[in-house]
This record gives sequence, structure tokens and C-alpha cells, in this order.
Amino acid sequence: MTDNTISPLQQYITKTAANNEAILIGYANIKKLHSIAIILGFHYSDTSYFKNTFGIAQRIYEVNAKSNVVLDKLRSILKKENHTSYDKSVFSVYGDMRPYIEAAGLGGFGRNGLIVNSQYGSNLLFSMLLTDAPFETEEIHRGSYQPCTYCKRCIDACPVNAFENNQFNTYKCFISSLRGCKECVTHCLNANGMVGN
Ligand code: SF4
Ligand code: SF4
Repeated sequence: MTDNTISPLQQYITKTAANNEAILIGYANIKKLHSIAIILGFHYSDTSYFKNTFGIAQRIYEVNAKSNVVLDKLRSILKKENHTSYDKSVFSVYGDMRPYIEAAGLGGFGRNGLIVNSQYGSNLLFSMLLTDAPFETEEIHRGSYQPCTYCKRCIDACPVNAFENNQFNTYKCFISSLRGCKECVTHCLNANGMVGN
């Protein structure tokens, strides 16, 4: 994808999202749905409330509200240009957005089960808009970016050893997460050089 192949409409979409606090914006072609996915990434936390489950839920809610503002604006722009749009919010539980996030070049699959971005680590929340607009897309293949090759900070940081024997123990993590644990995310953030605000 090069700048001179990107339509004014796509440039406008990207600019609008960036001006409304989306820190990552990418495009992926979902061939089976004959749609283009516009992926939006938002920074969602700092390191100060990881022991506070309510704080985490509240912050996710705030990011969802921020994301919905952007989704509304993008839907409105697309509608004016007679394009369809269908969005998946930060809270959407239907479908897994991670393959599309990776295809859009916004990160790779991390050991912690989350998308890891080279700049922001895994402290991100994503939303998505599907459209029939003919936008340029990235063609990133699965596994092209391997964020964890030289890193195991999340494994070392996990207080309940949920990554034991190269397998992820969902039950251990779930119980610990209920108490507000996000150590793996925090350390991934640090590993990737992003300092929480
Ligand atoms: S959320 Fe906590 S318990 Fe779960 S894998 Fe991460 S560090 Fe371990
Ligand atoms: S902390 Fe390191 S190993 Fe764990 S998900 Fe992040 S980059 Fe991968």
C-alpha cells in the first residue's frame, strides 16, 4: 500500500480516525465477506490500576465510548459516499478480530494470547468497521511478525505460572484475572518500550 494508490476517501477515513484518538489504523481485505475491514486500535491502560478490577472495567468502558465516537464518524462518512458499513465494537464478542488485525499489519500474535504491536505492546483494544468501499489493504501473511521470538517477559511475570510447560492454563489465568491480574500485559508493554501514561 503506497500513498499515491490511496483514494482521498481512504485518506480522509484514516485522518478522521487518527484525529479522534485511534493510535493504530489499518485495512485488511476479508475476501470471504467481500468486505474491507477498517481496524482501529486504542491504548487502553496505564500501569497504575492493574490491581483494581473495577478500574480496568471502567477504563475499557471509556475506551469503548471513545471507539464508538470514531465508528460513528466513519460510518457517517461512508454513508455519504453510498458505502455500506457494519461495525464491531471493543466489546463485540462475535468473531475473533485478531487475524484481521494481523492481516492489516498492526501486530502479531503474542504468547499472552493478545495482539502485540511493535510500538505499543499488547496494551491495546481494537474495534472494526466492515465496508464495501474499495480501499487499499495490507497483505500481511499470518506469522510474518513474530513479537515473542526473543522475549518471555510475560511468562516470567505471571504470578500463577499460567504458561507452564509451553501450555496456557486458562483456569489459572481466569482466577487470577478476576483479582485484577494483568501482569503479562504490563510486562509486554514494558518490553516494547511504551511507558504507560
Ligand atoms: S493475566 Fe495474570 S494470571 Fe493471566 S496470564 Fe497474565 S499474568 Fe498470568
Ligand atoms: S511479553 Fe514478550 S513474550 Fe510475552 S507477549 Fe509480549 S512480546 Fe511476547
